[in-house]
Amino acid sequence: MDGCVFCKIAAGEIPAEKVYDDGQILAFRDIAPQAPTHILVIPREHIESARMIDKSNSRIAARCLEAAAEIAESEGLEGGYRLISNVGADGGQTVFHLHFHLLGGRPLGERLA
Ligand code: 5GP
Ligand code: ZN
Repeated sequence: MDGCVFCKIAAGEIPAEKVYDDGQILAFRDIAPQAPTHILVIPREHIESARMIDKSNSRIAARCLEAAAEIAESEGLEGGYRLISNVGADGGQTVFHLHFHLLGGRPLGERLA
Protein backbone atom coordinates (compact mmCIF):
# COMPACT_ATOMS: atom_id res chain seq x y z
CA MET A 1 0.00 0.00 0.00
CA ASP A 2 1.64 3.22 -1.17
CA GLY A 3 2.54 5.63 1.60
CA CYS A 4 1.82 3.18 4.43
CA VAL A 5 4.62 3.39 7.00
CA PHE A 6 4.07 -0.17 8.25
CA CYS A 7 4.10 -1.58 4.70
CA LYS A 8 7.43 0.23 4.30
CA ILE A 9 8.75 -1.31 7.52
CA ALA A 10 7.51 -4.73 6.34
CA ALA A 11 9.33 -4.20 3.03
CA GLY A 12 12.53 -3.15 4.82
CA GLU A 13 12.34 0.35 3.34
CA ILE A 14 12.16 1.98 6.79
CA PRO A 15 14.34 0.57 9.58
CA ALA A 16 12.76 -0.84 12.71
CA GLU A 17 13.95 -2.84 15.71
CA LYS A 18 12.42 -6.17 14.80
CA VAL A 19 11.70 -8.72 17.52
CA TYR A 20 9.75 -11.28 15.46
CA ASP A 21 9.35 -12.18 11.80
CA ASP A 22 7.86 -15.38 10.43
CA GLY A 23 7.34 -14.10 6.91
CA GLN A 24 3.64 -13.40 7.42
CA ILE A 25 3.68 -11.65 10.81
CA LEU A 26 6.21 -9.06 11.89
CA ALA A 27 6.80 -7.35 15.24
CA PHE A 28 9.03 -4.41 16.07
CA ARG A 29 9.53 -1.94 18.91
CA ASP A 30 7.35 1.17 18.89
CA ILE A 31 9.30 4.31 18.04
CA ALA A 32 7.65 6.19 20.95
CA PRO A 33 7.28 3.55 23.69
CA GLN A 34 4.54 4.07 26.28
CA ALA A 35 5.71 1.26 28.57
CA PRO A 36 9.06 -0.48 29.21
CA THR A 37 8.00 -3.04 26.61
CA HIS A 38 6.02 -1.58 23.70
CA ILE A 39 5.97 -3.75 20.61
CA LEU A 40 3.78 -3.52 17.51
CA VAL A 41 2.60 -6.80 15.99
CA ILE A 42 1.46 -6.49 12.36
CA PRO A 43 0.59 -8.71 9.42
CA ARG A 44 2.76 -8.09 6.33
CA GLU A 45 -0.44 -7.92 4.33
CA HIS A 46 -2.00 -4.46 4.37
CA ILE A 47 -5.29 -4.60 6.29
CA GLU A 48 -6.56 -1.17 7.30
CA SER A 49 -7.66 -1.99 10.85
CA ALA A 50 -9.45 -4.57 13.00
CA ARG A 51 -12.66 -3.19 11.47
CA MET A 52 -11.69 -4.97 8.23
CA ILE A 53 -11.24 -8.42 9.78
CA ASP A 54 -13.66 -10.91 8.25
CA LYS A 55 -13.81 -14.56 7.25
CA SER A 56 -11.34 -13.97 4.41
CA ASN A 57 -8.49 -12.75 6.64
CA SER A 58 -9.28 -13.70 10.24
CA ARG A 59 -6.55 -16.38 10.18
CA ILE A 60 -3.99 -13.59 9.78
CA ALA A 61 -5.42 -11.72 12.77
CA ALA A 62 -5.27 -14.94 14.79
CA ARG A 63 -1.63 -15.38 13.77
CA CYS A 64 -0.93 -11.88 15.15
CA LEU A 65 -2.31 -12.98 18.52
CA GLU A 66 -0.30 -16.22 18.45
CA ALA A 67 2.85 -14.21 17.71
CA ALA A 68 2.01 -11.73 20.49
CA ALA A 69 1.79 -14.57 23.03
CA GLU A 70 5.15 -15.93 21.88
CA ILE A 71 6.78 -12.48 22.00
CA ALA A 72 5.35 -11.72 25.46
CA GLU A 73 6.97 -14.90 26.72
CA SER A 74 10.32 -14.08 25.15
CA GLU A 75 10.12 -10.54 26.59
CA GLY A 76 9.64 -12.04 30.07
CA LEU A 77 6.16 -10.60 30.65
CA GLU A 78 5.06 -13.43 32.97
CA GLY A 79 3.20 -10.96 35.20
CA GLY A 80 0.92 -9.93 32.36
CA TYR A 81 0.64 -7.38 29.61
CA ARG A 82 -1.90 -5.52 27.48
CA LEU A 83 -2.83 -6.04 23.83
CA ILE A 84 -4.59 -3.12 22.16
CA SER A 85 -5.72 -2.45 18.62
CA ASN A 86 -6.92 1.10 17.98
CA VAL A 87 -9.59 1.40 15.26
CA GLY A 88 -10.28 4.58 13.34
CA ALA A 89 -9.87 8.20 14.35
CA ASP A 90 -12.06 7.98 17.46
CA GLY A 91 -10.19 4.85 18.49
CA GLY A 92 -6.92 6.76 18.38
CA GLN A 93 -5.56 5.00 15.28
CA THR A 94 -2.83 7.00 13.56
CA VAL A 95 -1.29 4.34 11.31
CA PHE A 96 -3.94 2.71 9.14
CA HIS A 97 -2.34 -0.72 8.86
CA LEU A 98 -3.65 -3.33 11.33
CA HIS A 99 -1.45 -3.59 14.39
CA PHE A 100 -1.63 -4.82 17.94
CA HIS A 101 0.20 -2.87 20.64
CA LEU A 102 1.87 -5.24 23.11
CA LEU A 103 2.51 -3.24 26.27
CA GLY A 104 4.07 -4.42 29.49
CA GLY A 105 7.00 -4.32 31.85
CA ARG A 106 5.15 -2.40 34.56
CA PRO A 107 1.70 -2.67 36.18
CA LEU A 108 -0.66 -0.98 33.71
CA GLY A 109 -3.69 -0.52 35.96
CA GLU A 110 -7.32 -1.24 35.17
CA ARG A 111 -8.30 1.87 33.26
CA LEU A 112 -8.45 1.45 29.49
CA ALA A 113 -9.46 4.96 28.49
P1 5GP B 1 -1.85 3.83 16.55
O1 5GP B 1 -1.89 5.21 17.11
O2 5GP B 1 -2.19 3.81 15.08
O3 5GP B 1 -2.63 2.80 17.33
O4 5GP B 1 -0.35 3.36 16.72
C1 5GP B 1 0.66 3.69 15.84
C2 5GP B 1 1.95 3.49 16.57
O5 5GP B 1 2.98 3.41 15.62
C3 5GP B 1 2.31 4.61 17.54
O6 5GP B 1 2.46 4.08 18.86
C4 5GP B 1 3.61 5.18 16.97
O7 5GP B 1 4.52 5.55 17.98
C5 5GP B 1 4.12 4.02 16.13
N1 5GP B 1 4.91 4.42 14.98
C6 5GP B 1 4.58 5.35 14.04
N2 5GP B 1 5.52 5.44 13.10
C7 5GP B 1 6.48 4.54 13.44
C8 5GP B 1 7.72 4.15 12.83
O8 5GP B 1 8.13 4.65 11.79
N3 5GP B 1 8.43 3.18 13.46
C9 5GP B 1 8.00 2.59 14.61
N4 5GP B 1 8.78 1.65 15.15
N5 5GP B 1 6.84 2.92 15.20
C10 5GP B 1 6.08 3.88 14.62
ZN1 ZN C 1 0.27 -1.02 5.16
